[in-house]
Amino acid sequence: MITGKNYIGSRATADGSQILKAYNPTDGSVFQEEFIAATPQEIDDAVNLAQRAFASYKAVSYEKRAQFLETIAEEIMAIGDNLLERASGESGLPLGRFQGERGRTCNQLKMFANVLREGSWLGANIDTAIPDRQPIPKVDLRKMHVPIGPVAVFGASNFPLAFSTAGGDTASALAAGNPVIVKGHEAHLGTNDLVTQAVLSAVEKCDMPDGVFSMVNGGISVGQQIVKHPKVKAVGFTGSVKGGRAIFDMANQRPEPIPVYAEMGSTNPCFLMPDKLSGDPVGLGNTFANSVALGVGQFCTSPGLLIGIQSSALDEFTDTLSKSLAEKEAVTMLNEKIATSYYTHRGAVIEQTGVEEIGDSTNPGSNKGKPLTAKVNAKTFLKNPILHEEIFGPFTIVVICEDTNEMLAVANALHGQLTGTMVATDSDIEKYADIVEALSTKVGRLLFNGVPTGVEVCHSMQHGGPYPASTDQRTTSVGTAAISRFVRPIAYQNWPDHLLPEALKNSNPLQIWRTINGELTKDEIRNS
Ligand code: NAP
Repeated sequence: MITGKNYIGSRATADGSQILKAYNPTDGSVFQEEFIAATPQEIDDAVNLAQRAFASYKAVSYEKRAQFLETIAEEIMAIGDNLLERASGESGLPLGRFQGERGRTCNQLKMFANVLREGSWLGANIDTAIPDRQPIPKVDLRKMHVPIGPVAVFGASNFPLAFSTAGGDTASALAAGNPVIVKGHEAHLGTNDLVTQAVLSAVEKCDMPDGVFSMVNGGISVGQQIVKHPKVKAVGFTGSVKGGRAIFDMANQRPEPIPVYAEMGSTNPCFLMPDKLSGDPVGLGNTFANSVALGVGQFCTSPGLLIGIQSSALDEFTDTLSKSLAEKEAVTMLNEKIATSYYTHRGAVIEQTGVEEIGDSTNPGSNKGKPLTAKVNAKTFLKNPILHEEIFGPFTIVVICEDTNEMLAVANALHGQLTGTMVATDSDIEKYADIVEALSTKVGRLLFNGVPTGVEVCHSMQHGGPYPASTDQRTTSVGTAAISRFVRPIAYQNWPDHLLPEALKNSNPLQIWRTINGELTKDEIRNS
């Protein structure tokens, strides 16, 4: 049952007077429950409890931590269809989409459980002592990763399950051994409430310390208080550039700055290379129309820039793309704010000198997002920064270059991106290696053909890129490598074996892979 309360660990509270309501973007109807925004005292209580829980949670064995993550997945499944219906009702996204998103959410929790058992995330690295080394003895040094402390998590509106309450940031922070405080997203308050209760049920069943997970409702000021709280040690954020940047700046202005891992905006440029484009302009036009319209364009990997060279093939591609997009229905967007923002920002782009919309740009109303494309020549694109910004929704711009030199100039002028796609033949790649090289410096994931929408959750995924795609391009928010954001290395010098953490003991009791004197091995250390 949805309570509308805040959860300070296992304690449900509603001390405040500010009421938030959940909306159905499809018909504007209001859900009956009242959600109570957290007071400063409740926020302080949640963070202090998290800090107290940290001491015992980080000492929980990796196996028990893994079982905890698996139990969260079981508890999410146990909510049943009620969760899917609520998420669909609050987001306007189809019910079927949430079958998949729930599966992804549970699988990533289970994937982190396996990471904990496998052990290489600990980065165990050992240099044994050489007491008789000349001119000075070599000390015994053993390094590993340890958790950093309470982590604040801000989910995004477009993935109410997989990038929210028990999504990738929460899963990776908990896996690393950190308590989590979630700021519930205002666009899916009920979904957040249900998932919070599932996580807390897993806390109880697995006998985890109270405060390892808390959730507070509220708007921007609640989020800001969490970020500024001295006991919060890192932030995971998925959302807009505006929000992510504000939180990043705030975290850096604290007396003790903390890392903010914000995954934000991306236009996901796709370079349509001559050989490939001339082979199938119509097929590619349809493929990209489907990618642009997928999920009403509300994916961080939606292709917002399609860059080609002036030619009959590019004309055919653009014609097919625009016709195919025009045939697609206008579909309800996530919420009124996102729909309004889509038309406002798209409107600002198509009003720019030199930009030509192709199709009907009328707003059908009722929060529905109608796909559209526009075209612009590369010279205009290069001069106008407004055309480089992400438009969140089903909109894309075809950038027409005179030649591949101009294409290279466009690649060099791009902001940092989550993805970049080379729509190319092998010979295009060889011939235009400079464009590939320029694009590779801008992106976290470089695709050869296909479309950027669709993000695999696996060990080798990179979902993050140079700013503004993310605030730390060295990390990913999707896939098991996300755990590295919420750990720090510590080196133990000359510690007696029996006092070392298990991961670093001579006998290798965890049976994990470790680097010993420069060699990766599962061997134990003898005669050290
Ligand atoms: P959003 O408006 O930035 O909100 C994200 C969360 O941050 C919400 O909980 C929001 O609070 C909070 N927030 C926003 N501004 C804040 C501020 N100044 N201080 C403190 N908290 C703040 O993003 P969204 O609407 O959920 O998602 C849409 C955007 O996310 C799109 O631009 C999309 O490109 C991006 N996105 C990126 C990725 C990625 O991996 N890179 C993935 C998905 C989405 P409220 O709940 O009060 O609004």
